[in-house]
Amino acid sequence: MSDQAVTAETESNAVASATEEVPRAASGEGSTRVTTSSRRANATNGRYASPGTADSDQLLRCSHELTTEQRELIERLRCSLKPEFGDRDVDKYLDDEDMLRRYLKGHGWNFDTARRYLAKSLAFREKKPRPASWTCSYCVDNPGYHCMRQVGFDVRGRPVFYSSFIQAAVTSNSGADSVEHFVYLTENAVRSIRHREQKGQSSLSPRVDDWVWIMDCTGMGWAACNPKIAIQVNSLLGDHYPERLGLTVALNAGFLMRSAWAAIKVFLSPATAAKLVYVSDLAEQREVFDQELFDWLQTEERLNKESPLSESQRVFWCKPKNATAHDPRGTHSYVHEFIDQVSLAAVPSEETDGDAHIPSHLRRPLPHPNTVVEKRRGSSPV
Ligand SMILES: [Zn+2]
Repeated sequence: MSDQAVTAETESNAVASATEEVPRAASGEGSTRVTTSSRRANATNGRYASPGTADSDQLLRCSHELTTEQRELIERLRCSLKPEFGDRDVDKYLDDEDMLRRYLKGHGWNFDTARRYLAKSLAFREKKPRPASWTCSYCVDNPGYHCMRQVGFDVRGRPVFYSSFIQAAVTSNSGADSVEHFVYLTENAVRSIRHREQKGQSSLSPRVDDWVWIMDCTGMGWAACNPKIAIQVNSLLGDHYPERLGLTVALNAGFLMRSAWAAIKVFLSPATAAKLVYVSDLAEQREVFDQELFDWLQTEERLNKESPLSESQRVFWCKPKNATAHDPRGTHSYVHEFIDQVSLAAVPSEETDGDAHIPSHLRRPLPHPNTVVEKRRGSSPV
């Protein structure tokens, strides 16, 4: 287990029991529009802007409709943590009203609970190695260890992750390895949202906060039915990434998946449990995907049902030999923007973390860890 996974697992375990006691149901949000004057006074206008990025202050505005009471809670939360964490807030969470809102909303707008969890997250984010610079050491050491990867965006601009049990190199996971991979994916998914905002490809109001997970259950075996994994990942998301998981689509779920989920969801809040839906056909969630992603998912699902699994699907992190073939790394537009256009020089190595001085939300979004390794090696297509 790596140091970074130990850190997250320890923190997740430490708060796991408390997490389940906290009502996570979202409260209704009112109609009072947030003014920007006080936020501008608090936000550090342009402070994080780097060449080629949008006005960073614009990215720090809360883009959701809030009641007066909710606005006051956000400011109270910010002010209560500034004296302790102002200089240690390495990823500028306290300048980001959407971040503050997520902690409050994720904890039922309970100020004390939200403050406790946000303080934990601020401490978590300043520890080294910082979550913003984590990779997944399991995937790096064993390519394809995890197959969950971002493959595109849904119609609302939410990052979409895809995983298939049939593609994973390892069928038995621990909570620690899953936590490590989830942190990597989530950190980079958030950056991909910001990247699209800066390029004007995504609406700022309402701002996209969450992501979607397409979990293809084809090939799922008993070894994958360890409730500990789901509980640890849920604790991680609840503790440090509240309100990030928007929807999980369980595709081709059989008896094993349904049985495992029945055992797991008793540990989850009703709001979290309700975010998983079963589908036997992706068309049942057709409104979530644009045509490009829908076509990609259908092809990926079909190819992953073939037996034996083709080599190109097995090494899903590699560029396919045939330029016109289906690319398991993601949709054409995702691959073009988030893989092909990522220069090798701009990808920091795990050892040096060349972006260490850059706040998390302004770092470059990266694809699956093994795709990054392939790019860094400059290896030819498989
Ligand atoms: Zn991994």
